[in-house]
Formats: sequence, structure tokens, C-alpha cells
Amino acid sequence: MFNKFFGIFSKDIGIDLGTANTLVYVRGKGIVINEPSIVAINNKTGTVLAIGEEAKKMVGRTPGYIVVTKPLVSGVVSDFEVTEQMLKYFFDRVHSETLSFLPRPRVVVGVPSGVTEVEKRAVEDAAYNAGAREVYLIEEPMAAAVGARLPVQEAAANVIIDIGGGSTEIAVISMGGVVAARSLRLAGDKFNEDIIRYLREERNLLIGEATAENVKIRLGSAYPLEEELSGEIKGRDMLSGLPKEITITSEEIRKAISRSVRTILADIKSTIEETPPELIADLLNRSVYVSGGGSLLRGIDQLISHEIKLPVKVVDDPLTAVARGCGFVLEHLDKLKEVLVVTSKEAYW
Ligand code: ADP
Ligand code: MG
Repeated sequence: MFNKFFGIFSKDIGIDLGTANTLVYVRGKGIVINEPSIVAINNKTGTVLAIGEEAKKMVGRTPGYIVVTKPLVSGVVSDFEVTEQMLKYFFDRVHSETLSFLPRPRVVVGVPSGVTEVEKRAVEDAAYNAGAREVYLIEEPMAAAVGARLPVQEAAANVIIDIGGGSTEIAVISMGGVVAARSLRLAGDKFNEDIIRYLREERNLLIGEATAENVKIRLGSAYPLEEELSGEIKGRDMLSGLPKEITITSEEIRKAISRSVRTILADIKSTIEETPPELIADLLNRSVYVSGGGSLLRGIDQLISHEIKLPVKVVDDPLTAVARGCGFVLEHLDKLKEVLVVTSKEAYW
């Protein structure tokens, strides 16, 4: 009764707990937090030093006792403690101005479609310990599709490919449910590793993760460009050990990441092959959609389209699609919780 009455004032939130970025959507307000899923910990004292943007600036620049971790990438349970701290920090930021007697928030969280029951429980518990009153989990590709306003409740195939930092989610959705799906632990961050490795092996240049990501964004592509790009890149010369600058082209970067890109393509094909025939037929009249930061890689839509012979579109504002989808579900929770939500858990008080 108390919760029912005052619940309308509580700041219900939707969260895209991504491997690279965490976004928080507040009911009635929209996206209020968009920060890297990174936490810096002082290993001597066990205390959290920085979270989000501030922690990202420390990557590759810390003394040995400071560890900068991405708590969601490895998916091991011990990292869920860090995930919980990160969530709590973001919740507190949203809630700082809220009156303390108001009920704690209802929370909708996006999780990869491939997560195990144990991992689901861990996310629920993390959100719950961080201060949620009710926790609803929604599969990330579903959230991305809802965020992109695809007609997910129709009895027809909607194909969505979400390429994030640590994982790629491919799903075929019909009637509010996932009909076929693959979750692949390979995405944008692997492209960065590929670039680091390529430069080391082929150009004798050592670079760090942040530089690799920067090069990928500046010069990266999945499909030949009308005008190929080139640019300077700074690192350490492996022969002299000293700083060096070289020029590199978009063709080289494309070659560096091509194996990983091929792996994603193979999974897209297999997911489509697993789709029931009636739904496959629908695909001829609709586009396949791509979301997530990885969809910003130049020409990824052209490459996928070339491979599967179907029209492919990048959704609007692909980095926020999952958060906007979680937000939409939150705004219509009473109607949608039976359909789109995979599990839900309520606090016992
Ligand atoms: P997650 O959902 O896992 O948090 P995001 O959807 O936020 O991931 O995407 C993050 C990934 O997208 C990172 O690997 C990042 O390097 C990549 N990314 C962001 N912008 C671009 C871009 N313009 N070109 C290529 N990759 C990009
Ligand atoms: Mg994501």
C-alpha cells in the first residue's frame, strides 16, 4: 500500500549494464548517466578509487597496486562485487536529490541473451543490493529492438544484431519473444586487441588499448571505403624502445580486424539458418538492424548485407538503443512485464 501510493514518485530506472558502457535511464527524464563500465581499485586497501569516465582515464597509466577493471567483461562471479559497487554508485547519483522516505526504485536491467541462471541471479542481486525494490531483467537484443522501435510484438521476424564492447548479441524476435539467438563473447574490444597485435607483428609498434580504440574509430572499417583513409599513430618502436610515429591506412586496420569480423558474420548466418521457415520468409520484406557501438564501424551494414543478401540498417543512435529500450519497458511496465521481461524479483519488505 505504501509502495503503491508513493511508488509514482520514486525514480524508477532502466539500466544498460554494458561490457563497455553503462547507461542509466530515469522514468520521465530519459538517459541521465552514460559512462564507461570501468572501476579503478586500490589493491593495497581494497577501496574503489574511481568509477566510469574518471576510471577510464587511468587505463594503462596506473602504478602496479592500482587495478583498473571492467567488471562485466570476464563474467566471473567475484567481479559482481565490483559490478554491485558500480551500480550502487550510479544509483546514488540518480537518487541523491530524492526524499529518503520514498520507496526505492523499480529497476529494469538489460542482460545478454546467453547469460546463465547464475549470472542472472548475480545481476539481480547486484541491482537489489545496490538499492532496487523490484528488479526486472530483459534480454539486451530485445531491449535494443524495443529501443529502435521495431514492431517486436507482431507475429513476424525482427532481426537485431547488437555489437557491443565485450559481446555481440544476435536475435530473431517475434511476438515479444526471442525465437533464435546467439550471444558471442567477441565484439568491439576484440577489434582493439586485433589492432594492437597487428601493429606489433607487422609494424613493430607497441600501442595501448586506448590508442587502439582511437585508431579503430578514426580509421576502422569492415567494407572497402569509397575513399580509403590514413592517419598517424604514436607508440613505442619495438626495435629502439623509443617513441615513434607511423602512418597507417584503413586497409591495414580492416585486415587487422577481418578475422573477428568474419566470426561475427558466421554467427549471424547460423542464427538466421536456425530461424523457422515462416519467419525467414518475412525477412525478404524487412531490414535486419544493427545496434551497439560496434555498428558504428564504417561499412559494417554493407558487409552484413553483402553476406546475407538482405537489407541491413544501423538503428538511430545505436549506443543508446538498449538503454532507451529498457526505458520504454519501464514506462510501460504494467503492460509489458508479462511479455518482454524474462525474470523479475521483488524485495521482501
Ligand atoms: P556495451 O554494450 O558492451 O557496453 P557499446 O554498445 O557501448 O558496448 O559499444 C562499445 C564498443 O563500441 C567499444 O568496443 C567501442 O570501441 C566501440 N565503438 C564506439 N564507437 C565506435 C566507432 N565510431 N567505430 C567503431 N567502434 C566504435
Ligand atoms: Mg550493449
